[in-house]
Amino acid sequence: MTRATAGAVSGELEALGLITVDSRPAGGGRGRPSHRLAVDPAGPVVIAAQIHADGLSVTLAGLGGQLVQPVHLPLPAATDPARMLRAVAEAGAELARSSARRCLGAALALPNPVTEPDGTALAALHFAWPSGTPVADLFAEQLRRADLGPRARAPFPSAVANDANLAALAEHRHGAGRGARHLLLVTSGHRGVGGALVIDGRLHTGSAGLALEVGHLTVDPQGRPCQCGNRGCLNSETDPDALFAAAGLTPDPDRPLLGQARALARSAAEDPRAREAVERVVDRLGLGLAGMVNILNPDRIVLSGLHLDLLAAAPERLAAVVADRCLWGRSGRVPIVPAEVTHAGLVGAAELAWEPYLDDPQAVAG
Ligand SMILES: [Zn+2]
Repeated sequence: MTRATAGAVSGELEALGLITVDSRPAGGGRGRPSHRLAVDPAGPVVIAAQIHADGLSVTLAGLGGQLVQPVHLPLPAATDPARMLRAVAEAGAELARSSARRCLGAALALPNPVTEPDGTALAALHFAWPSGTPVADLFAEQLRRADLGPRARAPFPSAVANDANLAALAEHRHGAGRGARHLLLVTSGHRGVGGALVIDGRLHTGSAGLALEVGHLTVDPQGRPCQCGNRGCLNSETDPDALFAAAGLTPDPDRPLLGQARALARSAAEDPRAREAVERVVDRLGLGLAGMVNILNPDRIVLSGLHLDLLAAAPERLAAVVADRCLWGRSGRVPIVPAEVTHAGLVGAAELAWEPYLDDPQAVAG
């Protein structure tokens, strides 16, 4: 854009309180010096939240994936949808009240598929929520009941989405997926496997929000039973439980499962039993990734959760299994890289909550 247009746009964003413009631009170089722009550190925030198997995480987030203060809470004793979402809304409202910054909206990451556009939860097996629970409506209702303080925008928009989708958005904008045009993310958290695809900067969520449910790809017809009723799904062959089973070990039920599984994968360098288990699970993961590569033709694959540690433990083996099954063209050489964003679910939720204002900055003034 021309210098005049850039000046008009930056002036508008500054007037909305979103950015700061350095009044004494840096010199040096040829031509007229440029003004330096930055996200306003006192600018507005959104509430970003995540429900996962080990608890709730809530934070405020400014523009550009800048998390302010992540708070981690244990799961409430009662895990029915209304009570869980009330706990999230109240924790977020408390952060909003105690901040001097305006709060513009909220978004929540959930560990289960969320339909679009109606925002219902399907197969929410972690907490035994009924399939079809209207999570987007329930979250909006709990936010309306919560005391968001005098600096909250009215009306106060909110949104809910699947955590793997939001992690992919976070990696694409702020992490290992920057610059990729067709980014595939595959992750294993507590139980099961999630996937997501970002095409040209936008999530591909399918006709009803349910695309990329990659967990039920068959990678071993004689494998371990999956909760879907089949055997040998990617879910049941490459998640933390699968790694423990492959090693012939039982995880400690009183400690977070993912952390234990990641430690087991990292011990593969010195422990032959862990090494064998990692290789077995990596082979299954490679078969699943190869199937996805052949269908989706991504230009980058980001692995997170336990899959990040499996990649670190056996990078050549994983790449070889994938390449072996993708015999044509560049798909056989797709880079497989570790995720980089800390709290990717929260960063992705922040992106989702910011979405209306990224599309139309003037809405900040509303
Ligand atoms: Zn399955």
